Amino acid sequence: RAKRDGRNAARFFTAEMQAQTLRALTLENALRRALEREQLHLCYQPQVELERGLITGAEALLRWEHPELGSVSPTEFIPVAESCGLILPMGEWVIREATRQIRQWMAQGLGPVKVAVNLSSVQFRHLELPQLIDQIVKQAGIDPALLELELTEGMAMLEPQRAIETMRELHRRGLQLAMDDFGTGYSSLSYLKKFPVYKLKIDQSFVRDLTEDPEDRAIVAAIISMATSLGLQTLAEGVETQGQLDILRQQGCREAQGWLFGRPLRAPDFAALLAAQRTG
Ligand code: C2E
Ligand code: MG
Ligand code: MG
Ligand code: MG
Repeated sequence: RAKRDGRNAARFFTAEMQAQTLRALTLENALRRALEREQLHLCYQPQVELERGLITGAEALLRWEHPELGSVSPTEFIPVAESCGLILPMGEWVIREATRQIRQWMAQGLGPVKVAVNLSSVQFRHLELPQLIDQIVKQAGIDPALLELELTEGMAMLEPQRAIETMRELHRRGLQLAMDDFGTGYSSLSYLKKFPVYKLKIDQSFVRDLTEDPEDRAIVAAIISMATSLGLQTLAEGVETQGQLDILRQQGCREAQGWLFGRPLRAPDFAALLAAQRTG
């Protein structure tokens, strides 16, 4: 009986793995064409400075609309792009597009707007990244400080010495670095001091139950207090309710991002928000 169950479980597992492999292959093939067929676009999610209540920037989030597959989440297609090498051209496209958008908003009199882009670990380890970004920023003629690069603790801690070098090179070129999903990785405090990051993005997993969970409240308070002592800025991710916002304010968090302030928006919709803020 146990044997038979075991066999069934094994067969089920295999079928599921086959389905997953097939899906990954389908996505890979479709992704290869996504760039040239202009199926990718960026959405912009507002980042709000709490003290003044102003939108100070946006996080650019990659979106993929496939004619048959529909919209595929970046949590699903980014790993596929990473494993088949497509992440490099795709990541370059993201940086170019964000930079172009920054310049356009400037030209429309809406700027300066800061835009944060997510880097993949594959991009971050790519030796030519700093030169590439430098070149893109110069071609666009924007202030490099308007482009923020988000990396994660895992990316920084894999080879910390090498990561510090890359971060310094980016920093030297005037780019801003933020640590994404902070608190979910394992960066040591001694490294945090050495990384030239200027902002910690507190992961949404700590924000979610902030009003009910005293432990999450303690963790967020500790992150904000440590960041402040180290001279780092703080941004809370995934803020959905007024209750969460009240606690974050009280704890001295500087900025927030989440559905309470706005979903990721198409560029024209984000521009409309900026315009309303200017006139209002
Ligand atoms: P992330 O960088 O931590 O981005 C934040 C995610 O939280 C986004 O999911 C955003 O839509 C979502 N979010 C924002 N506010 C709220 C909220 O109030 N509640 C909830 N429940 N979620 C909220 P998204 O757009 O699905 O992206 C997921 C992840 O995919 C990102 O996490 C990032 O790691 C990755 N990603 C997205 N765009 C890019 C890209 O251009 N390049 C790379 N390498 N990775 C990207
Ligand atoms: Mg991010
Ligand atoms: Mg994040
Ligand atoms: Mg994340």
